[in-house]
Amino acid sequence: MSTSQIIVVGGGAAGFFAAITAAEMGAKVRLLEKSGRFLEKVRISGGGRCNVTHACPDIRAMAGNYPRGSRAVLGPFHQFSMTDTVEWFGRRGVRLKTERDGRMFPESNTSETIVACLLGSARDAGVELFANTEVASLDAVHGGGYRLGISGIKGETVSLEANRVLLATGGCRSASQGLLAAKLGHALIPPVPSLFTFIIESGWLRSLSGISLEDVEVVAGDLGLRQRGPILITHWGLSGPVVLKMSAWGARDLHAVNYRFTVRLNWMPGKPLDDILGEIQHRRQSAGNKLVSQIPIAPVPLRLWENLVMAAGLNRDARWSGITRNQIHALGMQLTRSEFPVAGKSLNKDEFVTCGGIKLGEVNLQTMESKVSPGLFFAGELLDIDGITGGFNFQAAWTTGYIAGRAMASS
Ligand SMILES: Cc1cc2nc3c(=O)[nH]c(=O)nc-3n(C[C@H](O)[C@H](O)[C@H](O)COP(=O)(O)OP(=O)(O)OC[C@H]3O[C@@H](n4cnc5c(N)ncnc54)[C@H](O)[C@@H]3O)c2cc1C
Repeated sequence: MSTSQIIVVGGGAAGFFAAITAAEMGAKVRLLEKSGRFLEKVRISGGGRCNVTHACPDIRAMAGNYPRGSRAVLGPFHQFSMTDTVEWFGRRGVRLKTERDGRMFPESNTSETIVACLLGSARDAGVELFANTEVASLDAVHGGGYRLGISGIKGETVSLEANRVLLATGGCRSASQGLLAAKLGHALIPPVPSLFTFIIESGWLRSLSGISLEDVEVVAGDLGLRQRGPILITHWGLSGPVVLKMSAWGARDLHAVNYRFTVRLNWMPGKPLDDILGEIQHRRQSAGNKLVSQIPIAPVPLRLWENLVMAAGLNRDARWSGITRNQIHALGMQLTRSEFPVAGKSLNKDEFVTCGGIKLGEVNLQTMESKVSPGLFFAGELLDIDGITGGFNFQAAWTTGYIAGRAMASS
């Protein structure tokens, strides 16, 4: 049994997982959290249900969901994968269920189950938990170990020492959040938001707020971005998995253009344009005297179809029999290449993360120990690893937290 003196900075998913793992191996662990509540992000995650991980036992396929860090997570996932996460919670009486799209939630459908499990496991393992305790400074001590300057709730400053320190302080919303590590010689990849939705000031699009489609292709041609999947039209623009995916993979490109660019939507990506034009031609004969705006081409819903017909330049009372060759072409273009100017980003209320953080080349990914400052470890969103929406970000936190906890307790 090790008697390590370990301090974990940050009481989120990664910090708790590391602290529990190390304490269960016999280490003496203190966990310091600057806010008044532990695990606050776990609590609000997944719309209050906590999307714990993603049902994807294939490690390579799982790794493909990380715009930053997809190669780097391969080794760590061999040590602690989503299957291990399911088992870890299962052993503590928390059963997870899988939804149709692969997202995994606690069967209870509330994040409180996960919070209670982590808090209970930490206490059972003997982790000493300190809330309202902010680490304001971190210095290497001559001869080994670290000295931490702590600000308490009453403004007093005390210092603590530890052999090993884990920084699990979460996404670098600003460069100053990475300062503790930067002072010890670490480079920070500049932070930029990921997982956001698109603001589009188009009256006709916004009038369709609430409509969702299962399969739409979204293209930001100038930026070389292309994604396909479910979309949701909102009162501010576009959201849904396909938009969040594009925002994650294109986080840096979209930041570079200040979130102003043109998106092109193909509402029927499953069909070639020629087939769509053929279908419209056929309608001309089969629907004859009926109103174009009232007979949509599947799978486009009626309200969207009406607006596409108007956008193609047809009148509301236009009939199929009177549709011209140019109008057929315009309708085909609207169905496959509707263009909208994006005027900014809005953060999705369910989930957002920061891309950027501690440079992975400076971390030993088998232990999560710094290559720059021995005895210093990292876990969670502070690292330059981030996933798309669907449980991938928590999985990265569980995996890196577990590995860091093990390594700290056994080194
Ligand atoms: C609204 C929302 C919903 C989400 N839903 C999901 C989801 O369902 N599934 C999913 O996979 N991901 C989700 N995410 C992303 C996920 O929550 C994060 O990736 C994950 O919480 C990161 O865990 P972490 O422990 O690295 O960081 P955090 O959870 O951010 O924890 C870091 C902790 O460190 C503390 N801290 C910071 N600096 C100091 C300091 N100097 N001293 C002491 N303490 C400090 C902070 O107060 C914080 O409590 C969501 C994110 C948001 C914002």
